[in-house]
Amino acid sequence: MRIDLHCHSTASDGTDTPAELVRNAAAAGLDVVALTDHDTTRGHAEAVAALPEGLTLVTGAELSCRVDGVSMHLLAYLFDPEEPALLAERELVRDDRVPRAKGMIAKLNELGVPVTWEQVARIAGDGSVGRPHIASALVELGVVPTVGDAFTEEWLADGGRAFVEKHETDPFEAVRLVKAAGGVTVFAHPAAAKRGRTVSEARIAELAAAGLDGVEVDHMDHDEPARARLRGLAGELGLLVTGSSDYHGSRKTCVLGEYTTDPEVYGEITRRAFGAFPVPGAGGAGV
Ligand code: AMP
Ligand code: ZN
Ligand code: FE
Ligand code: FE
Repeated sequence: MRIDLHCHSTASDGTDTPAELVRNAAAAGLDVVALTDHDTTRGHAEAVAALPEGLTLVTGAELSCRVDGVSMHLLAYLFDPEEPALLAERELVRDDRVPRAKGMIAKLNELGVPVTWEQVARIAGDGSVGRPHIASALVELGVVPTVGDAFTEEWLADGGRAFVEKHETDPFEAVRLVKAAGGVTVFAHPAAAKRGRTVSEARIAELAAAGLDGVEVDHMDHDEPARARLRGLAGELGLLVTGSSDYHGSRKTCVLGEYTTDPEVYGEITRRAFGAFPVPGAGGAGV
């Protein structure tokens, strides 16, 4: 059984529509795929409607958090999307992405880059707007050759010349909110050092004590030593270990199912969750 628990669609900064994503997931031979757009559940309905036979959808989101001045991403699975407190926090974070993107555009304009909000809004469509959309605009303008090249000190990296912070949730609060909404939490790419400073192991231990369920270990941004370290930490703290692609369509180089999660860990995630249930594709057995 092949299980990929971290994928983005056009509901945030991926390039596949939710319907395309589930079709591509089935074509890639996956049995289970999670849709985890940044700070939004907007793509879920379309993904459910298009779900191919034999593929099971795990609904989720990747929540933008910050602790000790460090940005971190919290994967949240199978929470009740209507639960008001978590819904309000998601909306707060997602809505703040718009003035924040406009702030980054203003900084780019000051740096002589003629990017406009209209251009970025066209690229983002109705997805929750993020730096990858601005990066795509910079590629269109010929400022950088690829999206990845925009994530440098010169441009959009954390603390970079055109970077602006957005509202991000305290992860202890986020873990509490997701649990109250019946969901399960996994710290996404905790050792992705190329994105900037990472959260300390002491903080991860405190998050585990506060109810964090797991850590994403097998991820393209983790080298082998980082994975070994995280596996050891997860063992000490009793955290679940996941692996996933963090697929973004053509906006990133990773492919669906590049890393996967052990079926036993997936089973444990589904046992812990009570806010929503995995959705089996029409006619599929469901898992
Ligand atoms: P935002 O949520 O708007 O701050 O943008 C963060 C997103 O940008 C992440 O979820 C990644 O998809 C992407 N990102 C961050 N760092 C990099 C990088 N070094 N190269 C490519 N994409 C990145
Ligand atoms: Zn993303
Ligand atoms: Fe992330
Ligand atoms: Fe992601």
